[in-house]
Amino acid sequence: MKITDVTVTLFDWDDIPETSYNAFTGSFGGKVQLGLLEVRTDEGITGHSFLGSAMYSAAIDAPGLVEKVKPLLMGQNPLERECLYRRVSRARRWVKLRSIGAVDIALWDIAGKTAGMPIHALIGTYRTTAPAYASSAILPSEEAYCEEAVSFRDAGWTAYKIHPPGSWREDIAICTAVREAVGGDMVLMLDAAWNYDFGQAIKVAKAIEELDFHWYEDPLADDDIYGCARLRAKIDIPLVATEWTPGGFGSYAEWILLKATDHLRGDVAVKGGITPLVKAAHLAEGFGMNLEVHHGGNSINNVANLHVIMGIRNCEFFEVLLPSGAHQYGLVEDIRIDGEGLAAAPTGPGLGVEIDHDLIRAKEVATLS
Ligand SMILES: [Mg+2]
Repeated sequence: MKITDVTVTLFDWDDIPETSYNAFTGSFGGKVQLGLLEVRTDEGITGHSFLGSAMYSAAIDAPGLVEKVKPLLMGQNPLERECLYRRVSRARRWVKLRSIGAVDIALWDIAGKTAGMPIHALIGTYRTTAPAYASSAILPSEEAYCEEAVSFRDAGWTAYKIHPPGSWREDIAICTAVREAVGGDMVLMLDAAWNYDFGQAIKVAKAIEELDFHWYEDPLADDDIYGCARLRAKIDIPLVATEWTPGGFGSYAEWILLKATDHLRGDVAVKGGITPLVKAAHLAEGFGMNLEVHHGGNSINNVANLHVIMGIRNCEFFEVLLPSGAHQYGLVEDIRIDGEGLAAAPTGPGLGVEIDHDLIRAKEVATLS
């Protein structure tokens, strides 16, 4: 089998609700372009993925992908994913990991379609359901967080993660109010989104330990390995860093060796695909750690994340970032969470998604090839 063409179709994504998670994303919403990546083969099988997210237009990355990555793929055997991952990683001088990740997902889609198996089965299925957690945006008041958490609890979800405004006293007050609102059984996490200095990070850690929070995510700067190692030595709650550490998969070793995080974190976009994410999970497993999978920013990335979670043992949760209008677009049917708060493994070959080609045709801006 040989790759015969690689294209990116840019299409409009309108009506994205105004949303913010932290100072890094800022406030976003309105309209961006998403990209449908298609990797075609001489055997008529096409691999798909989406490029971009509601906060990061595919129009930024698509030209580099076509100019710099496509020539590395043309004529190659798409089933040789490990070899091609090395090959396209050379393009990291010019393109972001998310472009390399989009290519890697499309190659896994081809492999699954060729085998007639879902991707998680190619990885080696560990399970067919996983608990989801609802992951908040920054909300306008304590009451808004409480109402949202209670509504998910009442719908059967077992876990809720808070993205707070980022001022430590206010953040503690929100965590306290949410714990009181949902009661003792719901799993709660805090994603501090790199907002605190060391002293603030300690104060918040001690407060949410008392509130029986499940993990404490990214209190310090994303590259502050030394600070995280110091912090982790002083707190009891599990610290979860490495979501956005510079360097992708290659950055994990020093975080493990310096004991700067309790679990690894990543997703198919920011770490460059299914291939490095599975490697990260197996690396973590060897150290008795989890790889807690971060949301993927678009509908296909989240399906790819779900395949990884089904294929590995050491991830506790599937992240559902709210609101859904900022993350679900372009599929006929998106991932659904059932009444017990579980996400189910896709069953079709490859990604097992039905792309909404009618929508994409109607909203098409350009096809890059
Ligand atoms: Mg996070």
